[in-house]
Amino acid sequence: MAQIVKGADVAAKLRENIKERLEALRAKGRDAKLSVLSVGDDPANASYERGIIKVFTTLGIAYEKVVLEGNCTQAEFDKKFTEINEDPSVTGILVFRPLPKPLSVEFAARTIDPDKDIDCMGYYNQASTAMGSKDCFYPCTAEAVLKFIEFEEIDLAFKNVVVIGRSTVVGRPLVSMLISRNATVTCCHTKTADITDRISNADIVVTAAGSRGLLKGDMMKNAKKDCFCIDVGINMREDGQGICGDIEFESVEPLAGKITTVPGGVGSVTSTLLAEHVVRGAELKL
Ligand code: NAD
Repeated sequence: MAQIVKGADVAAKLRENIKERLEALRAKGRDAKLSVLSVGDDPANASYERGIIKVFTTLGIAYEKVVLEGNCTQAEFDKKFTEINEDPSVTGILVFRPLPKPLSVEFAARTIDPDKDIDCMGYYNQASTAMGSKDCFYPCTAEAVLKFIEFEEIDLAFKNVVVIGRSTVVGRPLVSMLISRNATVTCCHTKTADITDRISNADIVVTAAGSRGLLKGDMMKNAKKDCFCIDVGINMREDGQGICGDIEFESVEPLAGKITTVPGGVGSVTSTLLAEHVVRGAELKL
């Protein structure tokens, strides 16, 4: 039976540190504030937003949401983005993406203040992540995976990690971050011939595909016995009642050493890291 590594435990440890830093900031007359820029009303953002509000309310960090009409022009979007980017009270900016077509995030990615770029949307932090920097803002979800590994005190040197997914927001940055921490990384995607073969001898498998039931027990037969399976995926359950991850929990759990769940795993750590980044943004402005 695998050990279930709970997002709540990882997030609780992070929260203690955030609270201390927030107090230190306030003692110096500074504060932290997140600004979320949303275009239209995409229901896909609703559950992420609920998680953010919960974390920010618990920690007592200011949060504002700026909403533009779904049919706004590129000039209107860029102007509003610039206002937020130049607002000295804002210490972190999150743009809900993807933007509705034909809007582009290009201008925002080029001009965002790197110290406010708390989810690695801008080119500076994206390039820094890809170059192996340990001192920039990583995408929160990819960093959340690292926090689970750190929480379990796993040294990545000489470890084989398989990442399933190669998106620019999760899979790719995670690969760079893992390599920078000495892991030996294999990245799988929809055009990988035999994922089961790639998983053989894996110490850690991260699923970030958005494909329900992608990782099944029979694919784990040659993975190491203490393999840590970390599920980033968020999918609707087959019965439509709630969410599930990419891992078929019932068949994988008996074969894994450690495992995360969906819900209750990576998601809660992601929103807590967003708060940590907003506080760090304020510290950078000191
Ligand atoms: P994406 O659609 O941009 O990328 C998915 C990647 O997975 C692609 O590279 C694709 O090649 C690969 N893939 C898809 N199906 C596959 C399959 N059957 N076999 C092998 N590879 C496959 O998605 P994304 O934005 O990277 O998000 C991935 C998942 O993570 C989604 O379910 C998303 O909802 C979830 N997510 C979770 C959080 C969180 O906080 N927990 C945050 C962001 C995204």
